[in-house]
Amino acid sequence: MKRCTRCVLPETYPGITFDSDGVCSLCRQAENRSALPSYEKLRVRLSELLEDCKSVKHRYDALVAFSGGKDSTFLIHTLKEKYGLSLLACTFDNGYMSEASFRNMRTVLNAMNVDHLIVKPRADMMNKIFLGSSEPGTYPPHLTGFGSGICISCIRMVTTMSLRVAIEKGIPLVMLGNSPGQLIQSENEIIFQDNKIPYELRKNLFRPLADRLGDEVYDYVMLSKEEYRTRPFPYTVNAFPLIGYDERNIYETISSLGWVRPEDVDPNSSNCRLNSLGIVKHLEHYGFHPYDYEMSLLVQQGIITREEALRRVEDPAETTLILSEEVEKSLMSS
Ligand SMILES: [Zn+2]
Repeated sequence: MKRCTRCVLPETYPGITFDSDGVCSLCRQAENRSALPSYEKLRVRLSELLEDCKSVKHRYDALVAFSGGKDSTFLIHTLKEKYGLSLLACTFDNGYMSEASFRNMRTVLNAMNVDHLIVKPRADMMNKIFLGSSEPGTYPPHLTGFGSGICISCIRMVTTMSLRVAIEKGIPLVMLGNSPGQLIQSENEIIFQDNKIPYELRKNLFRPLADRLGDEVYDYVMLSKEEYRTRPFPYTVNAFPLIGYDERNIYETISSLGWVRPEDVDPNSSNCRLNSLGIVKHLEHYGFHPYDYEMSLLVQQGIITREEALRRVEDPAETTLILSEEVEKSLMSS
């Protein structure tokens, strides 16, 4: 398959074109983009938010969405050690997290003395949502260009559960550990309030899923109208663009806390077995890898090499296919 000679985007990526040097239109656009988000301004905004948080007595200054993966582990370490925040690690258990991942969570949180809350919604509902999300056309192209339907639903559920817990416990900040490849690099993705998106607009996004599965899915993928009206509404922060993201430093730091790479997941995930099914279905329906875009951003930012990115999108690897089949069987059998 033809791929961009600079990043890794393939010819099957929606809307892509290549110039005579084989460089893709998205790389050329990035070259010409003058207005990158002002990180300096956002860093100041983050310090202000943190000062505000600390000036009021909270049991927890921030909730960290904690998957047990490398990024959120490193995020907790940094927020606690460098910023002195009092933290609640909150894990959304989708039922398909690797066992090794749970071992990592226990080990690193014990090493860092951080409280842990695990939220595990009912399995029948989770399975229904994941199966539904793996069908083509569940989400619009502007979202499926960046990831699989399964991952889109899961990330929305993580965000929803994190905000719900933060609202219930009066925690002013929700910290997310998306890597710079998982952000589309605009300011309002880095520090924002989730209730700024009109409620009905958000509901529309999940309508195809709800039409197939019933209205109760809304409770899992988005907040209720009442929750939307909470004041003050918690801020959500994607901290990595502001605190820095260096994979080598991340692995070094978390290894010292006792984190080990799980062996029971596909090469693209450090914690979730569902990811494999997401990859296989996405490739089947759309003809490109759900990690193509994320990897191309990581290459553009110099975080990984093009060769490394190619290795990661040269899926489906054998393990991915096996896991995918296992997971699909398990989803269907419930
Ligand atoms: Zn490119």
